[in-house]
Amino acid sequence: MRDDCIFCKIVKGELPSYKVYEDEDILVILDRFPSNLGECLVITKKHYESLFDLDPALGTKIFDLSQRVAVKIKETYNIDGLNLLQNNGASAGQQINHFHIHVMPRYDLDGIVMQGKPIDPTETEFNEVAAKLKLG
Ligand code: ZN
Repeated sequence: MRDDCIFCKIVKGELPSYKVYEDEDILVILDRFPSNLGECLVITKKHYESLFDLDPALGTKIFDLSQRVAVKIKETYNIDGLNLLQNNGASAGQQINHFHIHVMPRYDLDGIVMQGKPIDPTETEFNEVAAKLKLG
């Protein structure tokens, strides 16, 4: 737990939230500033900064739970699509430095734009990158 962390305060009950699910490891709440109604945040109860320090066993559990939340949103609302969004670091859009996954309902004309233009690597670059990132 970190004193200055909003999500740690929510976990401890020091700040209010709209809870959807809770177990010993994970809390699911409604996003206070949703892109669309029903957007949920799946949060680890323990303070992990990001994906890079998250306990891998918890990663499996939190993804499973995010899928359950996604299915529930789909069953409840007439959505056209859904994003799972998980940001790591300010440059990636992480605003609260406590691991979380956004479960975002989407609609055809909701106006949400995830911008970015693809780059066009050469074959050499692709081969180099594939070799560097190859998992052992
Ligand atoms: Zn925290």
